[in-house]
Formats: sequence, C-alpha cells, structure tokens
Amino acid sequence: MTDLTIRPFFWRPTNLFPETRLVSRTHDGTVDTSYGEFGERVRSLLAALADRGFGPGDRIGTFGWNHHRHLETYYAAPLSGAQLHTINVQLGDEDIVYIVEDADDDVLFVDPGDPFETIERLWSELSVEQVVVMDETVPETDVDAVAYEDLIAEHEPIAESEMPELEEEYPAGMCYTSGTTGRPKGVEYTQKMIYAHAMMVMTPAGLGIEEGDVVMPVVPMFHVNSWEFPYAATMAGATQVYPGPSPSAADLLELIEREGVTMTAGVPTVWINLLEHVDEHGGDLSSLERIVVGGSAAPEEMMRRYDEEFDVTVEHAWGMTETMSIGSVSRPKSSMADWDPSRKYEKRRKQGLLSPGLEMRVVNDAGEDVPWDGESAGELLVRGPTVITEYYNRPQANEEDFEGDWLKTGDIVSVDEDGYIEVVDRAKDVIKSGGEWISSIALENALMANPDVVEAAVVGVPHEKWQERPLATVVAAEDADPDEEELQNHLRETLEQPDWWLPDEIRVLERIPKTATGKFDKQGLREKLDVDTAETEDR
Ligand code: ADP
Repeated sequence: MTDLTIRPFFWRPTNLFPETRLVSRTHDGTVDTSYGEFGERVRSLLAALADRGFGPGDRIGTFGWNHHRHLETYYAAPLSGAQLHTINVQLGDEDIVYIVEDADDDVLFVDPGDPFETIERLWSELSVEQVVVMDETVPETDVDAVAYEDLIAEHEPIAESEMPELEEEYPAGMCYTSGTTGRPKGVEYTQKMIYAHAMMVMTPAGLGIEEGDVVMPVVPMFHVNSWEFPYAATMAGATQVYPGPSPSAADLLELIEREGVTMTAGVPTVWINLLEHVDEHGGDLSSLERIVVGGSAAPEEMMRRYDEEFDVTVEHAWGMTETMSIGSVSRPKSSMADWDPSRKYEKRRKQGLLSPGLEMRVVNDAGEDVPWDGESAGELLVRGPTVITEYYNRPQANEEDFEGDWLKTGDIVSVDEDGYIEVVDRAKDVIKSGGEWISSIALENALMANPDVVEAAVVGVPHEKWQERPLATVVAAEDADPDEEELQNHLRETLEQPDWWLPDEIRVLERIPKTATGKFDKQGLREKLDVDTAETEDR
C-alpha cells in the first residue's frame, strides 16, 4: 500500500487528461499548455532539482503570482521530497527577510519584475543559496540566479518510474500567517495533509470541482496554497486558467470571457471590484456559474447582485492558514430547497457548514460549549487531519493557540440550529462597548449594502466611559457622495440592532488600507486614523 502523497495528483491529469488546457497569463502574454506538457516539464524540473541535490529535508521557497511555472513548481518541489514554501510577494521587506530566514529556505523560485527586484535588493540579508527566475532569461544581476526555462531545457524529463519515493509525513508545504497580530507564524503541511485537504476541496461537500469545470484561482498562489486549487483542480482534471501578476478587474473579465471560466475564487474585494468594473464598462459573465468567496466576510449585497443580475452563485467559505484554507462552505441544505431566496440568504451569507473531515466546538470564556441557537457566541475550535496542531518554531504560540489537538481559531462565532457557523468577529476586532459586543463585520456588511458605499471597515476606538466605541470608514461608490446622516439612518433601518451599535462617526476615505492578502488592514487603518488614544463623544 502506498502512502497518502501528492503523487496521484500528478499521475491522474497527466495520464488521463493530457490534452486538457492549462492557460496562464504571464508578464509577457498568455501561455497555453496542457496537462501533457505540464507532466513533461515537471519531470524535467525534478531532474534539475535532483541534479542540484535538492530533495527531502530541503525547503524550496517561491515568490510569485499565479501562472503555469508556479504550478509546475507546486508539484516538482514536493514530488522531489522537498518542501514548497510559498512567500507573499506583497509583504514589506522586513517581513520577507524574517520569513525567508526563519524558514531557512535553500533556494527561491522568483517571478521576474518587481518580485525579483525585491529579492535582489534584499540579497545581502538572505542566506538563500540560489534563485531561479521563473522566466526565459535572467536580468543582469549580482544574485546567483538561473532562468527557469534553462533548467527545463537542460534536463530530460525523468521517467515516472524514476520519480522519488515519498512518505506521507514529509513536510510538503509551508505558508506564513500574515502576522496581523505580531510576527508571522510558519504553518507546515505534510504530504498527507495536502492529500486530505485537496480531496476535501474536490468533493461536492467541499467545493465540488469537476473535470468539465474551467477553474480560475484568483486567490494568490502565495496565499495558503491558493485555497488548494492547484492540487484539487489538477487532480480533478479540470481546465485551469491562472490569472498572472496583479490581475486587475479588466484582466479577470477578459479571461472569464475568453476562456469561458465556470468557477473562480478569491477574497471579497476582488469580486466587489469586478462588479464595479462591469457596471462601468459592461462585460459578459454568462459562462460563470459560481464564485467561491472567503478570507473575510462576503457582503450579502454583493452575493445578491451576482445572483440576481448575472445568475452567478456566490459560495461563501471560511478558512485559515492553519486549516489549509477552506474549512467551511455555505450552501442551503437540500431540505431548504423550497425556501424563498431571502430565507436562503440567511444561510448563504453565513460562513456555513463545517467541511467534511473536520470537527468543531464553540466555547465561551469559561471553556464551556455554547448552545447552537444562532445567538450565543464563543470561540470556534476546530480539529481534523487538515488542521495544524503546532506552529513551526513558535513554542509560545503553541502553548496559547491550541488545546490538545484543537486549534483555537481566534474567531468569535455563533452557530444556528441547522449547524451554520456565523463569524461574529475576530476576537481582536470585536468592539467591546460598555461590557457588550458590537460586531465590526455586521456594521461593515450593513454599510456595504448601501449603494453609495463600495467598501467599509469599522474599528473600535478607545473610550473613557464605554472602553471602546465603533468608528466606521467607507469608500464612496463611483459618482456617489455619501452623507454621514444618511448612512446613520440607513444603519438604523437595516441593522436590526440597538442604537448604541451605531458608529460614533463615519468617515469617507479615498481608500482603506488592505493587508498583503487583500483584507482590510485594521491595524493600518487605526494608524492612519490615529485613533489608538483618541477620545470620542459620549455614545
Ligand atoms: P490572516 O488574516 O491572519 O492573514 P488567514 O488568511 O489565515 O490569516 O485568515 C484567517 C482568518 O480570516 C480567519 O480566522 C477569519 O478571521 C478570517 N476569515 C476567513 N474567511 C472568512 C469569512 N468567510 N468570513 C469572515 N472571516 C473570515
């Protein structure tokens, strides 16, 4: 019997669907390949890695966007027995140096352009041995670098029968959390974990990826294995479209229209921007059947617009780096098929049902399980073969963030009678006002449901009497000029919460700072607003 490794994820599409297309937008145009070519190129890369002595015990970092070469590296690194460590290209210099050094990466596969220039600038601070530029050539540089295409061209593909034997406990993947609460923490995935999670994602109870799908993973490959699409969609034999460096809404629309994308996935801001773009310039979304949205709460208004205007189903998913991304998805149960659409949205806007393979608990401050009544809130704990039980090299976090094999997610949730999870807030974002909780997510969603608002982020501001009070920031929709009083009235009418939930102030900003993964950066926002010591009026 063989171990649970990613080898069959490579075997299946390359042998059963060799003609199926892999489309990749790169910095110099679209590249059209197939699973057949992918197989040959991965086996050449395996020969190149073996030639350079990389294998079990080595860590291969990647620093790039979503394209075919990155996909090939996603396979060649773990298939060689080494560990693939994906690094976020949008991080600041300090975090990049910290992460690469902490992980002790041996070699870095880097995108040409800005990512390579970043590594070049930081080269003297890194102890990496070599860089592979994911391109045809290497620019003039002092960095010890080779071109990816040279590596492929110089090495004959090794035979399938010559591929290294793998063990399921080999570390196969690694990704750092974004470090919104302190230094980024390393999260490692074994071969077995990737096997289990990709299977979970592929099944109907996960994301239900089919061979006939045309899948476009927009969630970056440097972010939690691009929510496992590179493994799950490849294993499924689906056609894949990789959208390349910093894709704009126009780039995404072009790929959807040209390639007939049926399924795509990414954080809410990407899909909000695409709607704005289509509103302004028009666009054909008719091929698109569904969009998986997660990473932060999906605004209901956006879900409804895709549904009602474009017949696209938005599936709301929840997950963390620590759960290998997808850990729950929201779809109405079959018993809810006859419900009217509004009632279904009460379920669909939630983070949904725990994915197969996981178990959960929701506990209050005293560590007691809270009832599933849709009201009582507590911290979500999860466990399963796809959930980590420790961080890399972080003894203190390992003490604090786990309870046996349960991961303490730091998410405050309620669960309704039907088992649907609703994230009320992150423990560190929830606003504690006069001993009560105000959900920043609920306020943001209500604000974003106003047509004059495209983005909203709410933070708690220190307050002498009430400890904290909400301060809302919004970005105005194109040609709109939202008025604070109107927005307050809108909140009063739609929020279904007492008046003390209303923000003390709503500020209109040009932009709301985002983290490197496209979420609202609440810490950056607080600094920008300079609110950490500010006082607000009585509530
Ligand atoms: P970070 O945000 O720390 O970079 P992750 O990408 O691992 O790291 O984020 C995980 C967190 O993102 C979850 O704990 C949760 O707070 C938030 N999150 C993920 N998906 C959703 C969602 N659908 N709705 C609300 N919050 C979400």
